[in-house]
Amino acid sequence: MLHGPGQSLQLEHIDRPAAGPGQVLVEVEACAVCRTDLHLLDGELPDIPYPVVPGHQIVGRIVSGGEASLPSGTRVGVPWLGYTCGTCEYCGGGRENLCDAAAFTGYTLPGGYADYIAADARYCFELDAGLPARALAPLLCAGLIGYRALRMCGEARRIGLYGFGAAAHVLAQVLRFQDRPFYAFTRAGDDAAQRSARSLGAAWCGPSTESPPARLDAAIIFAPVGPLVPVALAAVRKGGTVVCGGIHMSPIPEFTYDLLWGERKLVSVANLTRADGLEFLELAARIPIETQTEVFKLEDANAALAALRAGAITGSAVLDIGGSPDA
Ligand SMILES: [Zn+2]
Ligand SMILES: [Zn+2]
Repeated sequence: MLHGPGQSLQLEHIDRPAAGPGQVLVEVEACAVCRTDLHLLDGELPDIPYPVVPGHQIVGRIVSGGEASLPSGTRVGVPWLGYTCGTCEYCGGGRENLCDAAAFTGYTLPGGYADYIAADARYCFELDAGLPARALAPLLCAGLIGYRALRMCGEARRIGLYGFGAAAHVLAQVLRFQDRPFYAFTRAGDDAAQRSARSLGAAWCGPSTESPPARLDAAIIFAPVGPLVPVALAAVRKGGTVVCGGIHMSPIPEFTYDLLWGERKLVSVANLTRADGLEFLELAARIPIETQTEVFKLEDANAALAALRAGAITGSAVLDIGGSPDA
């Protein structure tokens, strides 16, 4: 439980939630840790309704409340997008990720750093019951947001990934599967991230201060570092796209127009749609994507967050919360 900006999480006993109308009660098996959780801890997201339980990459089993389509025992994933209004111009236009009234798991709705969560059944994804929960959890945000960011790159072939953490290590496997070369940019001296990128088939990897050996068709910035925007724009060819994949970024420094000239595009990715989720999870099973995880206990959530902040996680940090397979 997070009680205010800049605080550590507190381990607390709270009442088990009850499934309301349209909701399912999910016994959480695992919840992956996302950089957005750090932005929540640091009070960098607007209007945080303290106290809040973080966590939006949740894998668990339904224990009650499911309709016929999601009976008890069903393995589900609960993602960041927890509710949309269904009637606004964004929802009506296939862009529910931008819904004005959207609610988000582990932010404006209770999250999955917990034993149980009540979630709107319409936003849950059914997941493979045979795979370890810890391996599936990072797909629910790192994977999904990375995939939406990739879709923004259109038909681009040579793709730069700035920040080689949880999202990039999933997306690298998609790119390899699609036979698109990728170029991994890490912090200078981050040997672990560079090793990880090479092992996943990077065509090149190096610090973001270096130019890649080829002009990029597109770049995705996962690191929350505004100064990477002009760096990435300088690395993409005319007509190329730079996608900002995070929910928060430090200020972007002033840059000259020639970096954007030549019909380069600079866009952000916000949230996900359920259609993204279905499409990506189907693809992830087909590839199949193997996530690298570092597992922590729920009571060690602060240590997991500190390790993520320090750049000490290869792949994704995941909280192993238990849950019983026959629940
Ligand atoms: Zn996330
Ligand atoms: Zn809406």
